[in-house]
Order: sequence, then structure tokens, then C-alpha cells
Amino acid sequence: FWQHFNNEMREQFNEVAYNAWFKNTRPLSFDKNSHELVIAVQNPVTKGYWEKNLASQLIQSAYGYAGMEILPTFQIEGEAGPERFFNSTPHQEEKPTPAPSPRDEFTKDLRLNDKYTFDNFVQGEGNKLAAGAALAVADSPGSFYNPLFIFGGVGLGKTHLMQAIGHQMLAERPHAKVVYIQSETFVNDFINSIKNKTQDQFREKYRTCDLLLVDDIQFFAKKEGIQEEFFHTFETLYNDQKQIVMTSDRLPTEIPDLSERLVSRFTWGLQVEITPPDLETRIAILQKKAEGEGLSIDDNTLDYIASQVDTNIRELEGALVKVQAHATIERQDINVTLAREALVDLKLVQKTRGLQISKIQEVVANYFQTSTAELKGKKRVRQIVVPRQIAMYLARELTDSSLPKIGQEFGGKDHTTVMHACDKIQQQIKTDAEIKTAVFDLKQMLDR
Ligand code: ADP
Ligand code: MG
Repeated sequence: FWQHFNNEMREQFNEVAYNAWFKNTRPLSFDKNSHELVIAVQNPVTKGYWEKNLASQLIQSAYGYAGMEILPTFQIEGEAGPERFFNSTPHQEEKPTPAPSPRDEFTKDLRLNDKYTFDNFVQGEGNKLAAGAALAVADSPGSFYNPLFIFGGVGLGKTHLMQAIGHQMLAERPHAKVVYIQSETFVNDFINSIKNKTQDQFREKYRTCDLLLVDDIQFFAKKEGIQEEFFHTFETLYNDQKQIVMTSDRLPTEIPDLSERLVSRFTWGLQVEITPPDLETRIAILQKKAEGEGLSIDDNTLDYIASQVDTNIRELEGALVKVQAHATIERQDINVTLAREALVDLKLVQKTRGLQISKIQEVVANYFQTSTAELKGKKRVRQIVVPRQIAMYLARELTDSSLPKIGQEFGGKDHTTVMHACDKIQQQIKTDAEIKTAVFDLKQMLDR
């Protein structure tokens, strides 16, 4: 029946996630009297995931398929004595966080956000592929997916997942050398190391680590020397089977001015996208945050808040904070009415944003003597393509809308199309006087 369950799950999960949860998980013993089925898992994350998400399915499957009643308990490989899953209260108490062990010299400067752990990461449709890959990497660094490249829009959890890998690795190997940086930090460190003649230390830091996490690599400087340096860093780590993880708002091939050989290296491993969360996931995330804050909020209200913010999880968190603040000021309990009051201005902002994009389309269409329908359409002739790209560029520049949101407003185009348009116009402003003038004029008109 174990095999049967595995096969069932193989269909439910993608390969990455399946490997993360099932590859090193196996039944150890079954007690006919107590029905206890002891299952060995690789690490605490896998254990947590099984307890939360898979145990009940396993029970059902065992009963349905083999008529067996089982009580699964989980034992981390190499640790003695299983904790009894069913003895734990339904609302599990938070484990006391162990006092941080003294950091090694190497990681003493490491700044990871304590909250960005796997435990705090809610999995859903848009991110489960990335989360599965991140877990697999944390589990067996340097072996499966190297480099791991996580990409997607703003506020969707890229940094969170990346840092979770760092936390997990340090939890398992406290002396591991972990480096987390924004891509600009690499650039600054490198320039400083040349200035101060400390290149040896620079290389020591970056070329001997066990895990290199580079956040927002799309901002990587265009300068030759820096890309060259990063290339050698990459090669050294890669050849030593050290894990490299990068995040970006776009695919490596879409990062302008990234050298060919870096693009090619970045695509050696696995590239996974995080897409905006669906309503269900947004509710789950809010629920988790609310619990973390010790707030009790009923389902209707959670549902309401989650429906107000649809693309960016940071904004979703912001909405919850607003509601909470409003409740405190008004000395009222949190309910739908209160949430609605608290979020009126949020709605207003969203409305003007929506208006702004349509306004931009209108003004651009007028300026180029075409129609908004053409801008939203698919025609690929130059007279339409250029205005369309300019309108997308302006939408990006002048509103807070995310790339997917802009894509939506332009007849449901992919966010990569929008990104491409923005990059293209940005380039052309520098080289093409006509485009430069048009953008300038349009901005003036929109300013009025
Ligand atoms: P990005 O790096 O993609 O811009 P972040 O990782 O900074 O996004 O995430 C923005 C905020 O949303 C963070 O506070 C993060 O903890 C939270 N967040 C994102 N995804 C999730 C998730 N799946 N579960 C819980 N919190 C999340
Ligand atoms: Mg980030």
C-alpha cells in the first residue's frame, strides 16, 4: 500500500516536489496492535510537511486501498524515538526556538530575516514548484539543481524562499559557510576590494562558501570586470559542488547586458517561476500571518482582505497591518465591515492605478492616431507595436502596477512581453530621437 500511495502522489506532485517529500521517506515499522506506522523522514521540514499535509491522505489511502487503519508517526532519520503525531494538540504549539549557536567567523555578518523560513512559507499553486525545488536544494545542496534560479514578480516570496534555504542549511550544519547578498553587494565588495587591495579576502569570502545566495541578479552591473569576476566565482563554486541560488524578476536570457557565458551558466541548473498566488493561497497566507500576530479573524474577513489584494504578497501583509491598526484605533473587533473601512483608501489607490493605465492607453492612442483597442490587440506592425510598447513602458514608469497587471490591462499579455517592451523603450530613448521626444511629450500630457 506504501507503493500504491507513492504512485498516487507521484501524479499529484510535480517531479521536484515529489522528490523532496518522497525520495528519502520510507516506512520503518508497523505495530498491529496500536496501528502505529513509523515513517522515516530526512529532516524536520519533511516531517512538518508530512504531518501537516500528507498524514491525513496517507490514513485515507491506507484505509481505502488496503483496509488498514494506521496511525502515522514520523521519525527523523538518525534521531531516536518518534514523536507521536496524534498526541499533539491540533493547534501545535510553536517549538521554542533554540538559542542561536555562536556564529562562525565566516557567517557572523550574515543577515537573514528570522521570519523567512520554510515553516513560515505557505505553499500554493503559484509557488509550490519553486518551494519544492528550494527544499530539494536545502536538502542536498550542490547535487540536484545547481544553480537554482528562482524568478517572478515583486513581492511573491523569492527572497523569502532563498533565505529559507540559508536557514535550513545552517540549522542542519551550523558551521556551513553561507553567503546571502543582493547582487549590488557583490559589485560593491568587488570594487572595494580592488581599491583596498583586499582581493584575496574577497575571493576567500565568495569562492569558499558552501552556499551562495544572490538576490535580484537582474541588477547585476553591466561592467565587464565584474561579470568576469562573478563568472570565476561561479565556476569555482560549481566545480566544488557548492550550491548557488539566484533570484531575479525575469529569466537569465531576458536580463539585458548579461554576458553570454553567464546566461549559459545560469541556465545549467533549474529555473523555476513563482507566479501570483490564487485566492486560496492568499487566504492561507493571511491566516498564517494572523496566527503569528495572535489575531483571531473570521473566515469571511480573511476572505474579504485576500480578495482586495491580488498580486503582491507584501501588499497583502500591508493590508492586514492596516486592518489591525484600524481595529486598535477604533477599539473594535476585526470583521468585514471594519476591514472594508480600513481598506477604502487601498481600494482607491487601486482604482486610480487602474484608471491610470487606461488613461495612459487613451493618451498614447490619441498621440499616435491609433485606438486603445489596437494597443490591447495583437497586431505586430510597427505603427502599432511602437505605441503599444511606449504605453507599456509608461504604465510601468508612472504607476505602481506589476508586470502581470500591466499585461492584463493590455489584453491579457504575458508579463515577459511587458518586460521586453519596457526594456526596449528604455534602450531606444537613448538612441532614437523620435522615441525620446514621443515619450517626453506623452509624459507632459499625462502630467496634466
Ligand atoms: P520578493 O523577493 O519576491 O519580492 P519577498 O520574498 O520579499 O518577495 O516576499 C514579500 C513578503 O511576502 C515577505 O514578507 C514574505 O515573507 C511574504 N511572503 C511571500 N510569499 C509568501 C508565502 N508563500 N507564505 C508566507 N509569506 C510569504
Ligand atoms: Mg526580493
